[in-house]
Amino acid sequence: MSEPMEERAKDAVRDVHRAAIRHQDDSLHQSAVEISRMAGELGHDPGPIEDWRPCPVCGAEPGASCIRVPGHDMVDGAHPERTTE
Ligand SMILES: [Zn+2]
Repeated sequence: MSEPMEERAKDAVRDVHRAAIRHQDDSLHQSAVEISRMAGELGHDPGPIEDWRPCPVCGAEPGASCIRVPGHDMVDGAHPERTTE
């Protein structure tokens, strides 16, 4: 179970990613990624990895959902390539 505060933090990070997509501003993606990484290092759950990483298969932006691509299976709504290091 996550603390409500952590949920709010994750929502805020997603908002920054959405703004990055809206404004087509990669620096906002980078900022949100930095926040997620720091949260992780401080011992907080930074949220699902697909929330802070672009997808190498379908090109989905951080914070956005994967899009179906022929020849690539999705697992739990995301491409597994996106969630493996
Ligand atoms: Zn994908």
